[in-house]
Amino acid sequence: MAKMDSNELLEEMGGMDVEALTHSICRHHLSNLGRDYGRSDLFSLYQALAYTLRDRLVRNWVKTQRSYYNQNAKSVYYLSLEFLAGKSLSSNALCLGVEKAAEEALAKFGVTMEEAESAEADAGLGNGGLGRLASCFLDSMATLGIPGYGYGIRYEYGIFKQAIENGEQVELPDDWLHFGNPWEFCRRGFMFTVHLYGREEKYTHDDGSEKHRWTDTAKVMAMPVDMLIPGYKNGNVINMRLWEAQPARRFNLDLFNSGDYIRSMEDAVRSETISKVLYPSDRLTEGRELRLVQQYFFVSATIQDMMRRFKKLKLDFSELPNRAVVQLNETHPAIAIPELMRILIDEHMLNWDESWRICRRTFAYTNHTVMPEALETWPLDMMSKVLPRHVSIIFEINRRFMEEVKSRFPGDEDRLKRMSIIEDCEHPQVRMAWLAVLGSFTVNGVSALHGELIKKNIFQDFVEMFPGRFTSVTNGITPRRWLKQCNPGLSDLITEKIGPEWVTDLSKLKKLEPLADDAEFQNSWYNCKLQEKKRLVEYARKEYGIYLPTDWLYDVQVKRIHEYKRQVLNILHAITLYCRLKNDPNSVAVARLKIFGGKAAPGYFLAKRIIRLINSVGAVVNSDPTVNHKLRIAFLPNYRVSQAERIIPATDLSEQISLAGTEASGTGNMKFALNGALTVGTLDGANIEIMEEAGRENMFIFGMDAEEVERRKYNGYNPSEIASADKELAEALHYIGDGTFSEGDRELFQPILDSLFANGDQYMVLADYRAYVDVQDEVDKRWLDRKSWLRSSILNTAGSGKFSSDRAILDYANSIWGVRPMGKE
Ligand SMILES: *Cc1c(COP(=O)(O)O)cnc(C)c1O
Repeated sequence: MAKMDSNELLEEMGGMDVEALTHSICRHHLSNLGRDYGRSDLFSLYQALAYTLRDRLVRNWVKTQRSYYNQNAKSVYYLSLEFLAGKSLSSNALCLGVEKAAEEALAKFGVTMEEAESAEADAGLGNGGLGRLASCFLDSMATLGIPGYGYGIRYEYGIFKQAIENGEQVELPDDWLHFGNPWEFCRRGFMFTVHLYGREEKYTHDDGSEKHRWTDTAKVMAMPVDMLIPGYKNGNVINMRLWEAQPARRFNLDLFNSGDYIRSMEDAVRSETISKVLYPSDRLTEGRELRLVQQYFFVSATIQDMMRRFKKLKLDFSELPNRAVVQLNETHPAIAIPELMRILIDEHMLNWDESWRICRRTFAYTNHTVMPEALETWPLDMMSKVLPRHVSIIFEINRRFMEEVKSRFPGDEDRLKRMSIIEDCEHPQVRMAWLAVLGSFTVNGVSALHGELIKKNIFQDFVEMFPGRFTSVTNGITPRRWLKQCNPGLSDLITEKIGPEWVTDLSKLKKLEPLADDAEFQNSWYNCKLQEKKRLVEYARKEYGIYLPTDWLYDVQVKRIHEYKRQVLNILHAITLYCRLKNDPNSVAVARLKIFGGKAAPGYFLAKRIIRLINSVGAVVNSDPTVNHKLRIAFLPNYRVSQAERIIPATDLSEQISLAGTEASGTGNMKFALNGALTVGTLDGANIEIMEEAGRENMFIFGMDAEEVERRKYNGYNPSEIASADKELAEALHYIGDGTFSEGDRELFQPILDSLFANGDQYMVLADYRAYVDVQDEVDKRWLDRKSWLRSSILNTAGSGKFSSDRAILDYANSIWGVRPMGKE
């Protein structure tokens, strides 16, 4: 007991040397796993090491939270419906600075770190870029010492597992918690009640004023489950708090007592479905009621948690924006705005104007899409049923806003219609992006181009009214996971030359520039890449039974499968190479391995058919000896964070070929450049900024820019004209249609041809085909000049400093959040 007030107990939670770790691994076998450490196996060693590291994390977490508390820090609440964390074992060991000691401790049991981590399931609680960004941001907040929390949902099933059968995607459930999750702390004792459905009721308050309350609601409980996120070797640990839905009462006692035991359990089952599964749709909203319930569930619990902490300070509510800032990752958590209004007005009896002032200073919103059709809306009738009181608050926000618009732009009825939060049509919709813009003090895009495009397109009317509200923060990636950890050979080489500071100050990579022409350095650089290719070859063989050639040009496109990302353009290039090789086996100089990976949303028919096309072309190409000496195609199933960590370090050529103006930022592009891949890409998203940093001559930029795309669309774009004017293109398209890749079946890929012709080629694949194929010929030429290639490769890494998520988080901290990195204690 005497130890309660000191840090002594924390200090004795376990040492960081090999002996202490080994001892702890044995102890956890006994105390947590209930088994003999003399009979450990791969999985028990993973678990025991995870518990061992968690002991060290929780110690640092307590210290970090105490220090934030003592310094009265303003905190960041990062609200995201998705976190794509991947595996934690190596990254936690790295951040704790025990990666070598842990490796040695495991060696005593005859196991390597890589083997132990193979027993860990990816935490795949996200679809792609948006969720991965959230995880990189938590890593950077912890590393920089920015007080903050990540908040989301602890889905029981993450993004589905993709299997490929007969060339087609098959979805399987991702039962990632099946064997438990040793990293998390479930806090059963700290649950909040979340209300749903019911109705809004008017009543007269004691002071005579008219008030509202939300009554006759259904109730579920939100249980916090915490995953600890360490900073890199700085002793900081922050919290990712994920909510799990629990029934409000295990049994409905009335039913139970009346003897209807089974029906009394049904309630419980219904509540638990709320956190059951992640919606697997990247950017398209499905409009399903359960999804809306998920959004409100996690927002309600999070805002209650925030208010619990704030109330402990015993300050006036007007102080809230000085103590907390809520960053909304997309509009998914935007219901937080009317929720805070409801709490302040209905529960704390503040008036409307005070409450709105507080909200407007508390929330900030990050937009991730350029395409107007991808903006989130909810059917008004559905939202009125699920959240009647919130809808009434949204109407009042809108009523007041419409008055403001009217007085600024008298008589402009069209403008009122465009700007109304409620889209007034046959089936009225709630426009979540408009709500988010109105309730936030800052709205940001995620790259320089994207920040400009949203101002010109989707938010034009709002920019006229609130010009100062819009900005952009270019996305970033954590250099810990995406270089130090996933590419140890290259990391050691870099550290040997320029020292270790780059790990927390990525701009230091600039120091590699003078080495770009150094023959010996180039040679070492090449060997690192070759080493990573060998690792990938081994991984593909073991994991999928896929055999890859080692010393070829690795040409990689891994990301969600989507028309706007234009995997079809890449496969048209593959077919063109196939045609050339069929005509003349010596016509292609460079042996190229095209690697594809990515999941398609289960309901996205065309994306799934594109996967089928990739695999079908692959099957023909790979088995044709007149072709397969120069071209092979591999589709690696089930793309995910841990797979990206094996693919990206091995890549020579990074495919970033979206239609200009459609990819908001991209973060895959940054991971590849950081690992020395050269980009073949359009002037889209952050590709533009990568070009500015790395130099245009070190990339393969091709095709239309965003302005040309607009002009071309405006002037009437005709895909058939293009196809008939280009012999190679016509030939490639012909082979897609004539059954060459589908055993004579001419129907199978007709939908893809229809998208290019009958549906007008919305993503202008054909318009960029010639430029793309030509620039790929340039790629071949550069590849044959090995020195020149390696020089560019080094300069890509050297130019990647800007794309650290540390830089991105400092931008948010300085220009949006008004928080600063903390000194410790
Ligand atoms: C980085 C990453 C993404 C985002 O890739 P983009 O090419 O930017 O779309 C998606 N999924 C995973 C698993 C990632 O690691």
